Amino acid sequence: MTVLTNAAQGRLLLSDKLPRAPDEKVNKKTSIPFALLHLLPFLAFFTGITWKAIVLGVVLYWGRMFFITAGYHRYFAHKSYKLNRFWQFVMAFGGTTAAQKGPLWWAAHHRNHHQFSDTSADVHSPRKGFWWSHVGWILCDKYNETKFEKISDFAAYPELRFINKHEWIGPWSLGLFCFLFAGVPGLLIGFFGSTVLLWHSTFMVNSLAHVWGRRRYNTPDTSKNNLFIAIFTMGEGWHNNHHHFAASARQGFFWWEWDPTFYILKLAQKLGIVKKIRQVPKYKRDKAML
Ligand SMILES: [Zn+2]
Ligand SMILES: [Zn+2]
Repeated sequence: MTVLTNAAQGRLLLSDKLPRAPDEKVNKKTSIPFALLHLLPFLAFFTGITWKAIVLGVVLYWGRMFFITAGYHRYFAHKSYKLNRFWQFVMAFGGTTAAQKGPLWWAAHHRNHHQFSDTSADVHSPRKGFWWSHVGWILCDKYNETKFEKISDFAAYPELRFINKHEWIGPWSLGLFCFLFAGVPGLLIGFFGSTVLLWHSTFMVNSLAHVWGRRRYNTPDTSKNNLFIAIFTMGEGWHNNHHHFAASARQGFFWWEWDPTFYILKLAQKLGIVKKIRQVPKYKRDKAML
């Protein structure tokens, strides 16, 4: 494993390119359906676009973004708060409707990212190429399987293993619901349109949030803080904060850092759904600032 650091600043630079392993390549055949899904929303120009379908798409974008940021990311990958077994399952199932594979697959790969950030063992470092970090690694056969050894804590729950294995149930049933609720435009715009936008907003955290933005903390990686990404991902754009203290359920460390995922978690805490929310301790928040 090669780790190139900028000695003067003690941080990694994007210009320190990392070569990809020979088996780290995009499977062109399986990428075709994924690419075609991007075109489906445009069929709505022929079938008609309705307000009902647009509103459905907006609701499903933000609703499912919450399941990804609060559920897949801050709960399953980082255990930054507690849920009972029922709500844990709701979070897992809600996350699957975003069509980003199963919660155990997602969280295990994400734990790998934090463990090996921007080294050759990091699955999706932009040092291996911007498009690779954005989407290439997802289309690579090497990373199809769930890294169970990294998520043994949650893999102990049979219902989570089930939903992880049958991750198609969530998106297919949501797609069917959209069709029954708002017809063909509901399927094309409400479901496929919002799903494609949701994919690329989520992917931005792996690609753009390691490329574009400001660094507050001297973390040994390329992570950045970026308001633009925070807006579209309900607070995940404070990625340099997040790499500095990943166990915090709050990623906007200051009041002016927009983090609606955290605000909703606080509300859910008041309702008794969420417990033991972890936050960055003040001494840690004010340490190692650049
Ligand atoms: Zn990162
Ligand atoms: Zn994380």
